[in-house]
Amino acid sequence: MLDQIYPQLEIPHTLAAGPGPGNTDPRVLDRFANSGVADHMQADVLRGMVECKKMLRQVFGTSNVHTFGVAGTGWSGLDVMMSAVMPGDSVVAFVNGTFSTIDGLTLRMKAATAEELAESPLDPSCASVKIIEIPHGQSVTEEIIRESLEEHKPKWAFMAHWETGSGRVNDIASFSKSCEQLGVLGLVDAVSSLGVENFSIDDYPGVAGWASCPQKGICCLPLTYAPVSFTETYIDVLKTRGARTFVHHPILEARHWGIIDGQDVDKGTYHRTHSGYAVAAFHEALRLTLLETVASRAASYRMHEAVLKGALEKMGCTVTSNMTSLVVFNLPVELAGREMELVQVCRSRGFGIWPTLSKPVQIRIGILNQLTQTAITEIVRRFGDVMIESGANFSMCFIEEYIFEAYKSETAAA
Ligand SMILES: *Cc1c(COP(=O)(O)O)cnc(C)c1O
Repeated sequence: MLDQIYPQLEIPHTLAAGPGPGNTDPRVLDRFANSGVADHMQADVLRGMVECKKMLRQVFGTSNVHTFGVAGTGWSGLDVMMSAVMPGDSVVAFVNGTFSTIDGLTLRMKAATAEELAESPLDPSCASVKIIEIPHGQSVTEEIIRESLEEHKPKWAFMAHWETGSGRVNDIASFSKSCEQLGVLGLVDAVSSLGVENFSIDDYPGVAGWASCPQKGICCLPLTYAPVSFTETYIDVLKTRGARTFVHHPILEARHWGIIDGQDVDKGTYHRTHSGYAVAAFHEALRLTLLETVASRAASYRMHEAVLKGALEKMGCTVTSNMTSLVVFNLPVELAGREMELVQVCRSRGFGIWPTLSKPVQIRIGILNQLTQTAITEIVRRFGDVMIESGANFSMCFIEEYIFEAYKSETAAA
């Protein structure tokens, strides 16, 4: 049948306890739903965009003029960040999980020559791009960074700050230092770390381009804006060589945010039809982050992640991650190999945890915007119940007692 009309789409509320998206604050949804219909050149929409840009600079910790939001998801921001990479450019990309692997693919697509791309359009091999693979579960270290950059002396280097696939934090201080010393332009995927970790990108001058996303640390799932920021050095490269895109061109896209000829202006000019709803939601998400402060959110993530990790270890799991918004772990021996099954059971009950998306199969439980004792206890209880049903041997009372005591000592310490 060709013309079928479906009933209205109902999507249930779930407990989003994965690597992302995070739980959107009701105040953000309220701004989204209660904004009026207004076009993309209406005065308050434009003012909102200019205010977003300024708040975003504070969240990033930067004085980079070219700091703004890219309509879409994390990959949209990353595409803008990689828009300056041209066919034949030399690149070193450090890859230690699912997301940096895809970033590596994007870089190969951008840097491939026409012949290389035609040879394998969806997965080109590219002589000028060196992918440095770090085993799953490990971080990119200072030594690997320095050795690889000294050996290849590329134009560009790429790394994920926090690799969400394996839950590992990579060393951006060493990355920035090596890039600076060797005159390499650093590019960083900060999709998972922005708004979760307390860092200022201006402390890493070797990194020329940064890209993040709306739905993780910024907690703004209503499809809004992927934050990006570029140094003058990056913009100079674009000015001399250009980029093969209109919509994702960092200089052109910045105009709607009131950044013209490298200067802040009061009102943006047309680049594309921005949504007043999206601008209002993004604005509120940034406001809430700054009201609470990035530093205090980061401290809160650290505390809650430590309790969650401790509880999982008490349940016999082995944690291999070191991010503070996400715990990646293996099940105890008696349940080993059943990771996918347990994840499926949890998901069928509206408890949205995740497996790893590349081998080995591990479980990922995230705490984005779940920064209360009640929320963490609920997450542990839900997962613990499924483990016990599956044959694990521990008592939930004992685990809840552990959580209670852990929070008591965390609160005493603070
Ligand atoms: C989530 C994530 C992405 C992709 O973000 P989308 O919002 O799904 O486009 C890219 N890189 C990292 C490190 C991520 O965690």
